[in-house]
Amino acid sequence: KNTVNILGINFINTTVKQFVHTLGSHIENREKTFVVTANPEIVMDARKNETLMNIIQGADYVTADGIGIVKSAGLLGVPLPERVPGFDVTMRLLKLANKKGLSVYLLGGKDRVVEKAADRIKSDFPNVKIAGYHHGYFDLADDQIMKTVESTKPDIILVALGAPRQEQWISESMPLFDHGIFIGVGGTFDVIAG
Ligand code: UDP
Repeated sequence: KNTVNILGINFINTTVKQFVHTLGSHIENREKTFVVTANPEIVMDARKNETLMNIIQGADYVTADGIGIVKSAGLLGVPLPERVPGFDVTMRLLKLANKKGLSVYLLGGKDRVVEKAADRIKSDFPNVKIAGYHHGYFDLADDQIMKTVESTKPDIILVALGAPRQEQWISESMPLFDHGIFIGVGGTFDVIAG
């Protein structure tokens, strides 16, 4: 993996397009993959929170979500080509999922928001299988949600619980799964729902 280290975190050196291509091969090989889209806030949080730092360092990929990270890389003499935000990765992943008929689970956001986002995806990407969806206001200690999501065997799990809650949920839930791309996508469902 070609990465750039900024404040102890290895960022993948890639464009959105290349990155989703990479995720596509992990899906084909049925490899479990954890993606953190990291903005400067989460990087600073992780420097004060060892548990969070361990979760991020344990992810398969950390992308530069924000111009601040891209600029820092440039200043360090190890340029990154562009921002790789959760929203952009999600839209390209949905395009790929539509092409390949992949299944997607939507976890997070308010009840009405995630429902609306699912409807929107169904109409814009008719070939995507919505494995299921669930709002994001549950207790992280409740392991019923991860069991429910796992039972649908999704190819892609979009986790929109806000940072670092979404990264915590992914790191705790992933061991239960056999395959899947797990990605924390922040406020993406709010944007899709419009
Ligand atoms: N969210 C959630 N459960 C929570 C807190 C937040 O599902 O306990 C959702 C919220 O509805 C929003 C998303 O997480 O859709 C992202 O929230 P925010 O924009 O605050 O997070 P960030 O983009 O900074 O990661």
